[in-house]
Amino acid sequence: SDSHFPVPVSPDEFDLSQHYPRYFPADKGGGEEEESRSPPPRIRFADVGCGFGGLLVGLSPLFPDTLMIGMELRDKVTEYVKERILALRTSNPGQYDNISVVRTNSMKYIPNYFRKAQLTKMFFLFPDPHFKEKNHRRRVISMQLLDEYAYVMEVGGIIYTITDVEELGEWMRSCLEKHPLFEAVSDEEIKADPVVKLLSTATEESQKVARNGGQTFHAIFRRISLPEE
Ligand code: SAM
Repeated sequence: SDSHFPVPVSPDEFDLSQHYPRYFPADKGGGEEEESRSPPPRIRFADVGCGFGGLLVGLSPLFPDTLMIGMELRDKVTEYVKERILALRTSNPGQYDNISVVRTNSMKYIPNYFRKAQLTKMFFLFPDPHFKEKNHRRRVISMQLLDEYAYVMEVGGIIYTITDVEELGEWMRSCLEKHPLFEAVSDEEIKADPVVKLLSTATEESQKVARNGGQTFHAIFRRISLPEE
């Protein structure tokens, strides 16, 4: 249950130095003047329900200066991703320092981790389908959760979703279409976006679907502003 993992009470309490030590070197004391220091980097990408972490590993070299985090509910899977990242850092010095993972329930705690307008990309790749009508409230995309995602996303930020379950694909698209703070990204932009290829190739689930020759359905939307914002 949730009591088995710590949740920061607010984004200010989320200790990034444990996750990205190269970006948060221990303060040696003295030396640099306070004002000459650049502000500490923030997490910009979140992979929600990251599973075994294939997307983070694929994204890391594409955006080497962007901090990214995977959020995963299963303890053992989270531990696996941690080990995977540490092993990659060891065998590739200077690389993979920008990715990390946290065990959490993303449906409950997104605002504990991220501030308003902090994220520039959010990923929902092959989320659990929860077929039955009464279980739709467990889906990681819903009108209520889109309100939260809109809050933590920067205007112009992009939300990427993909699934092999047609009904879920339609559901995610229709929620995004109905939501006033998101608009569909054009086909041209989708084609030109290097991230899009990773959606159907980088994660463990996407590779399973590809091996089985399954179809996939994506919905890619931009966070927009309302006139009064
Ligand atoms: N995105 C990965 C991929 O494409 O390989 C994993 C897909 S897997 C079908 C869905 C993942 O979401 C599982 O690892 C599951 O534990 C995780 N998950 C489900 N509900 C979650 C929640 N509320 N918070 C965080 N992770 C969740």
